[in-house]
Amino acid sequence: MSEKQCNTEDIKKAADILINAHHAIAFTGAGISTESGIPDFRGPQGLWKQYSPELASIDYFLQHPKEFWLFYRMRMSTLFAAKPNRAHYAVAELEKMGIIKAVITQNVDGLHQAAGSSNVIELHGTMRRAVCLACGRTYPMDVVIKKIDSGQIPPLCDECGGILKPDTVLFGEPVKDFDRARELALMSDAVLVIGSSLSVYPAAYVPIFVKEMGGKVIIINMEPTELDYIADVIIQCKAGDAMTLLLKEIKDRLGIQ
Ligand SMILES: [Zn+2]
Repeated sequence: MSEKQCNTEDIKKAADILINAHHAIAFTGAGISTESGIPDFRGPQGLWKQYSPELASIDYFLQHPKEFWLFYRMRMSTLFAAKPNRAHYAVAELEKMGIIKAVITQNVDGLHQAAGSSNVIELHGTMRRAVCLACGRTYPMDVVIKKIDSGQIPPLCDECGGILKPDTVLFGEPVKDFDRARELALMSDAVLVIGSSLSVYPAAYVPIFVKEMGGKVIIINMEPTELDYIADVIIQCKAGDAMTLLLKEIKDRLGIQ
């Protein structure tokens, strides 16, 4: 299988759009983190080809919190070792340059923040934290891991004894901060989609809102997406390659080293 090269003309078009935008946002999915070694849940090698998605549903969690946490603990070893890649760093740099105002992500890995992005909306929550289902208190995940590794499975709240749940959105739960995401999308005149198949709703409404308000849609993804028909530019190559080239193109045009 040959690696797809990024199309230089498309990179230039994307740079034009972002440089001329007054309020651009990024919208990211699993594809931005695959180069960090985090498997894409829905892709061909995805986790849901190996395990039933039922394991990540709120119903399963409520019925089998112990089994859920044992499975989650096993997965966390890989996920926590992951480091941001070139694409995450490029997005963070575009935010520092004022080109991108915010990142709306479907990912729960925390790699945007680790790369230096500051305005990040995590629609599907974060695996860096757990939350008490009874009182809502949150705990950093390393504290929770200690509880599990010392034999408290499921881990419990120090305050009220309630069961802790990863602060990620499980199947059957509503997404987080969607109102804020919608508000941002509606005020944006460009969206840079990176590594999402745009097949999961309501998250995929973000580029649709931008388009409906007359904004431009750039899609960087290895595979065709469900919303290619609304895209102004489609770049089909690796997120890290595309973002490295795009960042360089923007810097060259603006005369930034
Ligand atoms: Zn509690």
